[in-house]
Amino acid sequence: MNTLTAAASLAELEAFVRLRREIHSLPELGGDTPVTAQLVADKLASWGYEVHCGIGGHGLVGVLRKGTSTRSIGLRADMDALPMQEANPFAHASRIDGRMHACGHDGHTAILLAAAWRIAQSVEFDGTLNLIFQPDEEGLCGAKAMMDDGLFSRFPCDAIFALHNLPGVPVGTAIVQAGPTMAASQQVSIQIQGRGGHGAMPERSVDPFPVIASLINAIQTIKSRNLGVDEHAVISIGMVKAGTVYNIIPDTASMLLSVRTDTPATEQKINHRLEEIVRGHEQVYGVTITLETVQLAPALVNSEQQTRQVRQSLAPLFAPQALLSRGKKLMATEDFAWMLTEVPGCYFFLGNGEGEFHGCSVHNPHYDFNDELIGLGSDCWVRIVQDCLGD
Ligand SMILES: [Zn+2]
Ligand SMILES: [Zn+2]
Repeated sequence: MNTLTAAASLAELEAFVRLRREIHSLPELGGDTPVTAQLVADKLASWGYEVHCGIGGHGLVGVLRKGTSTRSIGLRADMDALPMQEANPFAHASRIDGRMHACGHDGHTAILLAAAWRIAQSVEFDGTLNLIFQPDEEGLCGAKAMMDDGLFSRFPCDAIFALHNLPGVPVGTAIVQAGPTMAASQQVSIQIQGRGGHGAMPERSVDPFPVIASLINAIQTIKSRNLGVDEHAVISIGMVKAGTVYNIIPDTASMLLSVRTDTPATEQKINHRLEEIVRGHEQVYGVTITLETVQLAPALVNSEQQTRQVRQSLAPLFAPQALLSRGKKLMATEDFAWMLTEVPGCYFFLGNGEGEFHGCSVHNPHYDFNDELIGLGSDCWVRIVQDCLGD
């Protein structure tokens, strides 16, 4: 099917702009999104979707089946806000102190609801459409919680898709890139066990301070000496802790690192090198070192086939020069990456606008989602559904 059979009228879109602003004014945090989830569930149910709530907490799935085909796809939106104070003066600004929709997840939810409404009304397809609304994207726990609660065994999907707004890029521009798109994020904790003692008698201690000082320097060499120019990574030391007063050599010292990488191979290489550096320091300094790595989210890797599919579906909606296949490298992390480890799919960006207001970065107290994207974003979803599940 090649024509967009369900173009929304301006009045219809207005209703979704109001809905987006309503969600914006009542932000909910992390996995605690009962009001937003209920609002989404009520809308979907009223349009004929079979609604399954309480998946991995407040996650929910709206299912629409048409025809007899066993084909199925999933479209995902995130629903959570951020723990920060909104500085915008407009009427739909957050009514809850210390909470703000500063990443546009209010907009992503409104886009998917607008598409849900249009698809239920007037899009013919043959297969199953699963609309996935997840909490706690910012905490990088919501997707995993839904998957651990059987998301893809209960609602099998051949392919999954998600989008995010991108400030600083004009409205009417899409970035759809194959392969690694968002960074993996790990927290690494290093605990050095030495032997404490009197500051005046260092020969009777195993001092952890020279060890941690040396580690700080050695870790910098991973990026500068061990990775190639095309291997992207950020390694930042966020915490170093040791000691109490001037004349005690402490028993222990510890540090926490943030490691971000764009491919699993680079992540493995860094982890391997960290292991070597730590074990080397044990030998040289005679301490014991515990190295623990917690993977917060894997790298987000778009599959070739689904990326091609999205590009094809979006082609009629964007000028050829505004449908980009590569954007500026982002080392931010996205929870949807977990879902892509189970089901192939594509995560793409829509420009949120430029200038001081709509170009304002996400996670900034002056940010706001651009309502112009509701029509365009729902056009993208309608096209993708028509192309994946159409005749
Ligand atoms: Zn965010
Ligand atoms: Zn976000």
